Amino acid sequence: MAKLKVKPGVVTGSQLQEVFAYCKEAQCALPAVNVIGSSTVNAALQAAKEASSPIIIQFSNGGALFNAGKYLDNTNQRGAVAGAVAGALHVRHISKLYGVPVILHTDHCARKLLPWVDGMVAEGEKFYRENGEPLYSSHMLDLSEEELEENIATSAQYLERMAKINMTLEIELGVTGGEEDGVDNTDIDSSRLYTQPEHVLQAYDALNPIGSFTVAAAFGNTHGVYKPGNVKLTPEILKNSQDMVHRERKTESEQPLDLVFHGGSGSEKSKITEAITYGVVKMNIDTDTQWAFTRPVREYIDANHDYLMSQIGNPEGSDKPNKSKIDPRAWMVAGEKGFTARLVESFKDLNSFGQFDL
Ligand SMILES: [Zn+2]
Repeated sequence: MAKLKVKPGVVTGSQLQEVFAYCKEAQCALPAVNVIGSSTVNAALQAAKEASSPIIIQFSNGGALFNAGKYLDNTNQRGAVAGAVAGALHVRHISKLYGVPVILHTDHCARKLLPWVDGMVAEGEKFYRENGEPLYSSHMLDLSEEELEENIATSAQYLERMAKINMTLEIELGVTGGEEDGVDNTDIDSSRLYTQPEHVLQAYDALNPIGSFTVAAAFGNTHGVYKPGNVKLTPEILKNSQDMVHRERKTESEQPLDLVFHGGSGSEKSKITEAITYGVVKMNIDTDTQWAFTRPVREYIDANHDYLMSQIGNPEGSDKPNKSKIDPRAWMVAGEKGFTARLVESFKDLNSFGQFDL
C-alpha cells in the first residue's frame, strides 16, 4: 500500500476524509493533542515533523480562552472564540514551515458552551468566503449528557451549517468518564460509559445524509489517568457499532464510521491497538502530554534551585547574575521537549509514525 501524500498546512474537507479513510486502511490513528498556546502548538508541530505524520491539534474551550488570556473578559464566549481564532492563525502560518499537515479541531462543547461553537462557525464561514476553505477542519459537540434524540437533533442542525463550508463534526455518544476542563463525570452511572450500537446507528442515519462526521463512542474510556479500577476498556463496542451500521445500512465499507478515542492517556497499549483495528482514526491525548510538559520543568527548577532564589547571587558567587537561568524560555523549552517526546511516542503507539508521505 502506497503511503498517502498530504500537503503541509491545515487539512480540511474531502482531503480530511481521505486521511481518515487511509488511517483505517493502514490501521493507524492520529493523536489529537490539546494545546494552550504557541509553546505547545510548536512542540506538537515538531513531534509531527519527527513522526512524518499529520497531527490533530485541538483547543478545548478553556485552552482557547487561555490562549487569549485566562482573565480576559469572556462574555458570550468572545474570549474563547478570539483565542481559538488566534491559535488557528498561528497554526496556519507556522505549520507549513514545519512541513506538516494539521487537522485543526475544537474539543468538547456542551450545550452551555454552544455560543463558543456558534462564534467559531461564524468565523469559519467568514474565513471560507475569503479563502474557499474553513478556518478549522472540525468542531466537536458533546451533548452526550442529554437525551439521545436531543443530542442527535442539535448535532444535525450544526452539521447542516458546517457541511456547507466543508467542515466535519465530531459528536459524542455515551459518556467519557473522569474529569477534564472543569467537566466532572467521575460519579456517573457506569452503564452510560458504554455506547449502545443502536444509538450509533440512529446517529448515522441522521447525520450521514447531511455531511461528514466522526463519533466519539464510549467504551469505558476516561479522561485523566487514574488507578486501574471498576471501569474496563471494552473496544469490542466499537466493532459492534461498525458491524451494525455496515449490516443494517449495507454500506460498501465494513467500517463506515470514523471513530474517536477520548481519554487516551494512560491506556494500555494493547487496547489502543485493538481500538484502531475497529476504525478509531483519532485518539485524544491531554493528561499524558500535560505531565510530559510539567515533569521536565520541575526537574529544571529542582536542578537549578540555587540559581533561582534571586536575580543576583548563586553558588558561584554572591555577585553572579542568574539572568539566563531565570529566563522563562529556559524552562519552557524543557517542557516543550518533554511534550514533543511524549507525542512522538503516541504516534508510535497509534502506528502512524512514518506512515505518510510528507
Ligand atoms: Zn474528551
